[in-house]
Amino acid sequence: FQVPTPINEPILAYASGSKEREQLQNKLAELRAKQIDIPMYIGGKSVQGAQKVAMTCPHDHQHVLGHYYEGGKKEVGQAIDAALAAHAAWSATPWERRAAIFLKAAELSATKYRMDLNARTMLGQSKNAFQAEIDAACEWVDFLRFNVHYASQIYADQPISSPGVWNRVEYRALEGFVYALTPFNFTAIAGNLPAAPALMGNTVVWKPSPSQVYSAGLLMDILTEAGLPAGVINLVFADGPEAGDVVFNHRDFAGVHFTGSTAVFQTIWKNIGNNISNYKSYPRIVGETGGKDFVVAHPSAEPKALAVAIIRGAFEYQGQKCSAASRAYVPASLWSQVEAYLKEDLAAIRMGGTEDFGNFVNAVIDAKAFAKISGFIADAKQDADVSVVAGGHCDDSKGYFVEPTVLLTNNPKSRTMVEEIFGPVLTVYVYPDAEWNQTLKLVDETSAYALTGAIFAQDSYALEEAKAALVNAAGNLYLNDKCTGAVVGQQPFGGARASGTNDKAGSYLNLLRWVSPRTVKEVF
Ligand code: GLU
Repeated sequence: FQVPTPINEPILAYASGSKEREQLQNKLAELRAKQIDIPMYIGGKSVQGAQKVAMTCPHDHQHVLGHYYEGGKKEVGQAIDAALAAHAAWSATPWERRAAIFLKAAELSATKYRMDLNARTMLGQSKNAFQAEIDAACEWVDFLRFNVHYASQIYADQPISSPGVWNRVEYRALEGFVYALTPFNFTAIAGNLPAAPALMGNTVVWKPSPSQVYSAGLLMDILTEAGLPAGVINLVFADGPEAGDVVFNHRDFAGVHFTGSTAVFQTIWKNIGNNISNYKSYPRIVGETGGKDFVVAHPSAEPKALAVAIIRGAFEYQGQKCSAASRAYVPASLWSQVEAYLKEDLAAIRMGGTEDFGNFVNAVIDAKAFAKISGFIADAKQDADVSVVAGGHCDDSKGYFVEPTVLLTNNPKSRTMVEEIFGPVLTVYVYPDAEWNQTLKLVDETSAYALTGAIFAQDSYALEEAKAALVNAAGNLYLNDKCTGAVVGQQPFGGARASGTNDKAGSYLNLLRWVSPRTVKEVF
């Protein structure tokens, strides 16, 4: 059978005076005026852990949005039991029924819950209306719809048979449970990490980042309203290492689907390695981790387009995207123009709470992130090789605000050129025009991560040179565009090296990791 042809969910503009802006503002006011309690959801039941944790607003950190109830080893164990108990029925559920549940969740999200999803993402994760819309409304819905389409292609892929012999492949679910760990920076990522394995017939234990619980609780409600049976996705809140202790020691652990830091992913991988002989099957390990994403400009680049791409790529959502631009290589002949554009545009950018739709930049996620990012900026100010081109001011008195900061260095290996900051900081290295080829080599050598990158050139031969020289330096390469904002169905997303397993979120490649095919030959 044919599934609905997916299209990307249209982005609403929230223009001043529009109905949708009024609706979103009303929802923000409603949420600010109350506190929401978010329980865990295990085996179809709400469960309250022992520890009550306040959820606060990053741009107004004294404002409590509600509470969640954190559990521990006991609740993680219960979630695993619930996932295993649901496995037989769910994996045997006809796939069109599974697909229908996720398609219904997409529909509910795009309509009835759109404002709520956006408002929660704006208040809980400090995203402005546009950043919330492209994430919690559009990308989450796109993942749900497009994954159904990709799954249908996988199921349709069958071997050849002949008269008297029928060969077929059954795309079984993995035997055991899948553990999904979602980050704070995209509400949408839950449309992939817990939802994709579940679509393919697996049952899941889902642990979101504490800073994402405010929106994750609503996603769980939507999936439940759409008809997801009890135990298919079990939402738990727990300390990471404590939960990991239970999960990675379990004989039925079948795979992990992760987005987060490189360090945590490597710890997970080691834990799995240490237990490898205890599992029923070799677990699937799928992770998208950090980035140190580059912008490289050729002398033929168009300076204004380059400056805009730097600002949008580096500073939208305060640079808290794995894909965010954080180092730029600009030829000497272009730098004074690019510098002037950057200074002028950044001077016009407003920073503040998400409730004011005129603010382009909002707060970074929490006190820990603020301390880390402001520490990088303070250290850079002490570095004799580095100067501040724009920004550099940090203030956490009301919210965790870090000004969009452009640094200039004469050392292409200085700390902010190579270490991931995960905040609104971009460092520029100006290279002599004649050293284009050496610069490409330098970019590759300093790419310990390999997630995204952007190349700017009007000379198309230069684009080819850069593509060849940087063949392994990025999993998502943009030619004359900013390096963020991959769209499901258009730019499958992921990178290699220290950036992850490159299983491409938003494509059939990811879904293939969540099946364990059985080949059946029948002779008549
Ligand atoms: N897919 C997002 C983008 O292209 C980034 C996802 C992430 O930060 O994990 O901007």
